[in-house]
Amino acid sequence: MIICMLLGWLYFIRRILSALFLTMVVIVASNITISIVIAAPLLVQDSLAVEYDIVVHIDPVEQTIKGRSVIATTSSHELTLMLGQRFKVTHAFIDGVTLKPSGYGHLMHTWSVPASQRNVRRYIEIHWDGKLSPLNTSLDHQQTLGRAEPVSGSLGTFLPDSSGWYPRIAGELSSYRISIEMPSGQRGIVAGRLIKESETSESYHAVFEFPFPSEGIDFMGGPYIVTTDMMKSAGGKRIQLRTYFHPQIKELARGYLDKVKGYIDLYESRIGEYPFTEFSIVSSPTPTGFGMPTLTYLGINVLRLPFIRNTSLGHEVLHNWWGNGVYPNYQVGNWSEGLTTFMADYAYKERIGPEAAREMRLGWLRDFSALSLGQDSALERFATRTHGASQIVGYNKAAMMFLMLRDLIGYESFDRAIQAFWHHQRFRIASWSDLRHAFETESGQDLQIFFKQWLTYTGAPAVHIAKAIRRQSDSGYRVTITLEQTGVSALYSIRVPIVVYTKDSKETKTFDLDRGRQTFSFKLRAKPLEVALDPDFRLFRRLTPDEAPPILRQIMVNQAAVTVLLSEKGGAHVAGYELAKKLQNRIPKIVLSKDAFTATSVLVIGLQEQVDRWISSHKLPVRPVIMRSNGTAHAWTVKHDGVTLAIVSAKDTTSLKALVRPLPHYGRQSYVVFDGAKAIERGTWPARVQVVKLN
Ligand SMILES: [Zn+2]
Repeated sequence: MIICMLLGWLYFIRRILSALFLTMVVIVASNITISIVIAAPLLVQDSLAVEYDIVVHIDPVEQTIKGRSVIATTSSHELTLMLGQRFKVTHAFIDGVTLKPSGYGHLMHTWSVPASQRNVRRYIEIHWDGKLSPLNTSLDHQQTLGRAEPVSGSLGTFLPDSSGWYPRIAGELSSYRISIEMPSGQRGIVAGRLIKESETSESYHAVFEFPFPSEGIDFMGGPYIVTTDMMKSAGGKRIQLRTYFHPQIKELARGYLDKVKGYIDLYESRIGEYPFTEFSIVSSPTPTGFGMPTLTYLGINVLRLPFIRNTSLGHEVLHNWWGNGVYPNYQVGNWSEGLTTFMADYAYKERIGPEAAREMRLGWLRDFSALSLGQDSALERFATRTHGASQIVGYNKAAMMFLMLRDLIGYESFDRAIQAFWHHQRFRIASWSDLRHAFETESGQDLQIFFKQWLTYTGAPAVHIAKAIRRQSDSGYRVTITLEQTGVSALYSIRVPIVVYTKDSKETKTFDLDRGRQTFSFKLRAKPLEVALDPDFRLFRRLTPDEAPPILRQIMVNQAAVTVLLSEKGGAHVAGYELAKKLQNRIPKIVLSKDAFTATSVLVIGLQEQVDRWISSHKLPVRPVIMRSNGTAHAWTVKHDGVTLAIVSAKDTTSLKALVRPLPHYGRQSYVVFDGAKAIERGTWPARVQVVKLN
């Protein structure tokens, strides 16, 4: 299961357990059979094959599940079998012999299945039943996934793999066949190919097969209306497309199916044939959003947002190549989110135009610069998105790394490497070094340093123009420019774009900077007037304060940020506290007004008059013009004496309370004006690129 960055406000928890247990197994699958290849050097000898054959009956009204599973394995290792503790096991056998009673894990029944002789096929059979939790549609995305709880109701059923809803062997990729029974009117779906489906007046029945190595099974069900379509893959294979939508959004089905076709076509032409024979979009009654092989599960209200089909949908489709077609090796870093962000979210911006793409790059760099020093970790340590900082590194920094790589080796080599990587790694676990190998082979360049610095260093280089001089010569002009990289523990080897402006034109020069301070010079016929450092933001670097004006996120992600509540008691105090807690996703550090400037990051919350008084008593810049006349509440950032402040000011307690839900979604803004809970104005203070006039 790949969980995606669907919206800024959706935070995600991956099945960490699965990730930790992943072994390095190389598995090759043909269309019909699965062969397990045990290859050196990554592999644990005697790696195992696991196949599940499951029959399950789920009743969303009664909130019950009853199932039978036969697990076939050829492993000779000792295995751990797990099932959610809420379920009751009625039969459990291994090769016809009753399994010993289970142990008690924290949330799971666990059984130890003893080691056996090699190459013997063993069968474990388990029958189980139990109650599911009632569906609570008021949960947000984080709660939907984070609770790892199997939930069911007439509006929807979601059984995440991590809830232990079926007996599974811990930490092993496996194939499966699952037969689902539900009451009539309900539909159930898991990742894989639908091979049988029938419905009577009493019940619905469907059989799914997933013949590829899978990390686990997530089950979704609901009162779905299914709309289908079909397309042919690049290789002529039939791909079945479906939407499983709640009745209230059934009219959106056609638009989504058409978009999916476009995305599959696009990525087949860029990468290679779509690896599966189906793709489904499934609606969820909770505002969740993530993807699995062959399907994506999106909240009803998420699906209603018009931009989702132009952004997140393509991202989810692409995960069938990156993440669910080639698996990241989580122990040595997850490259799949960065590559997917680069080839989906970023590529769509490039398609709109250079300005939109530049805006996205600037946004990434601005987000990164909002982190305080030392708050990020090296990209190779990113496994999954758990908080804002991990997304800024694992998605954005990684996507920017692919952009710099394409700038370095050229579009053609880049595309060939992507295709070769897919060709060689399909249905295998691949790491960053496999990617490096593909890019080195296709470009003929040694990329050791490039990959090493972007993957293993924390932080980013801070680069500036130390000196720039123009001299007249016989044939024109000579410019000498000195570049410096500062504030980094290790020096980077980077290509710095410098744009030279003359009266009528501009020209981009690229300089290879690999020392702390280096001087470069070049000739020009026309008179150069000024030089700018990376004005298009193509280099991953720490922006200067002018380039990165403060955004609200700075006080959201900075763990050292303190909060001043200007109302010391009453409703405005309570609402201010709630807002601070929600913004920072932690218990806020409340300080007295007089101690505010002892921190470098300060959140100030109060009612309008209190805020105005506080601003003037601290001699801060006055409330920005854009906020003076309208709205019921304002939030804005200001930098003063090295301190970044986010100031939140509301007309009254009700207006302050109204910000608790929406304001955390505006972290990328420098200012927001609210009318009640609705943002009516927002924006970032302009970025000023580094420019030096030539004299
Ligand atoms: Zn993703």
